[in-house]
Amino acid sequence: MSTTDEARRGSAAPTATELIRCSGLTRVHGRGPAKVTALRDVSCVLGAGMRVALTGPSGSGKSTLLHLLAGLDRPTSGTIEWPGLGGNPFGRPGVVGLVFQGPSLLPPLDVTENVALPLLLAHAAAGEARERALAALREVGLHGLGSRLPEELSGGQAQRVAVARALAIEPKLILADEPTGQLDSAHAQEVADLLLGAATRLGAALVLATHDKALADRLPIRWRVANGRLEVASTTGTPVGPPAAGDRTED
Ligand code: ADP
Ligand code: MG
Repeated sequence: MSTTDEARRGSAAPTATELIRCSGLTRVHGRGPAKVTALRDVSCVLGAGMRVALTGPSGSGKSTLLHLLAGLDRPTSGTIEWPGLGGNPFGRPGVVGLVFQGPSLLPPLDVTENVALPLLLAHAAAGEARERALAALREVGLHGLGSRLPEELSGGQAQRVAVARALAIEPKLILADEPTGQLDSAHAQEVADLLLGAATRLGAALVLATHDKALADRLPIRWRVANGRLEVASTTGTPVGPPAAGDRTED
């Protein structure tokens, strides 16, 4: 069975709306001798509400795949569509909640303004954006810190603000790129609890790249990337359509 057939098979599941469908994605970075093939022939279907841990060694292509799923990058070849999101989310703030590994708050804006920003960019009224930002900050336990600047936060607090910013827009999809990678284990646990709890409350799909096996084990579906190829390491959810393990060739 080809990877495209596999992707189509995912769409056959009766209950799921397809948020994203990828067919044969390849992404080559750089040129000439510096050329790196970060992803090779990746096909997958992300259904509504699916919780996926994206695992694999450093440099295997996890961030490249997340950037493509978010519409932040384009594949060198292959196709990606976002049927359940009304098209490419790039340039449409409020559609996908993004959480990155490192600092991502805008330094001149206070915490509330940072969380409200995607709502304002999505044309929410100022008062409503502020109310929703404050509610999201309450959800992550930081409602007292709304007027602080990012530089006045600890790493764990800043990451909780980033989670609040992602969930304030009430997205159908949250993409998180090693969101706990720079935190100690106690703060990593807090951030993970918040992300998983928010995804559950919102019924949002979640794709979470992580090196942390304990965190990956909390998600029902595991997509593993190795040398730019995607395999399903474990699933207890449906639907899923990345290539079968037998399609994979080692480089
Ligand atoms: P991961 O997130 O799993 O660590 P990445 O997707 O960041 O992996 O990277 C996959 C491969 O692509 C790595 O070899 C990395 O060095 C390379 N790569 C990623 N981004 C770029 C870029 N902008 N330019 C050149 N090479 C890149
Ligand atoms: Mg990465």
